[in-house]
Amino acid sequence: MSHDTLASRRADRDRLLTLVQPAPALVGTGVFAKRRLKSGMVLGEIFGQVCDEHPADPSYCMELPSGKVLEPSAPLRFLNHSCDPNCELFYWFDEDIPSPDDRLWLQTIRGIEPGEELLIDYCWPADAAIRCQCGSANCRGWVVDPDELHLVKDPDQCREETRSTPPGDGDAG
Ligand SMILES: [Zn+2]
Repeated sequence: MSHDTLASRRADRDRLLTLVQPAPALVGTGVFAKRRLKSGMVLGEIFGQVCDEHPADPSYCMELPSGKVLEPSAPLRFLNHSCDPNCELFYWFDEDIPSPDDRLWLQTIRGIEPGEELLIDYCWPADAAIRCQCGSANCRGWVVDPDELHLVKDPDQCREETRSTPPGDGDAG
């Protein structure tokens, strides 16, 4: 990495730290706004360790455009999930460049007040889904990609379906 890149990354991080800070959240640590953030504001790039495979504890990992995973460093590694998020991850997409840069940025998708927690939708695949406790009005019940919600195996729901299915009605399972 060139000196210039290092310097610009440090400047990005310094700017980010004027906007957000990690602090205790409902679950573990979260990322909170230090000042009012406008909707559609690019807060900064997600820096961290790029791995080819999911590490043992994948809870902090973010998928990169190439399919590799990024384990972000603080403070953005502490971004928590919500089914009703106020931020999102994105990468610059240029149709003239066939494979996008393996870099992710964080931007707000609505205005955020000082002290408010920054939340993203993790959109995890169904096989990685865990129970969601975000408490938002449109909570999906699981931390999972909305497109894969129907694939989540819910033990409680399975039991209820078994109970309400009349005996002998088609194939079980
Ligand atoms: Zn939720």
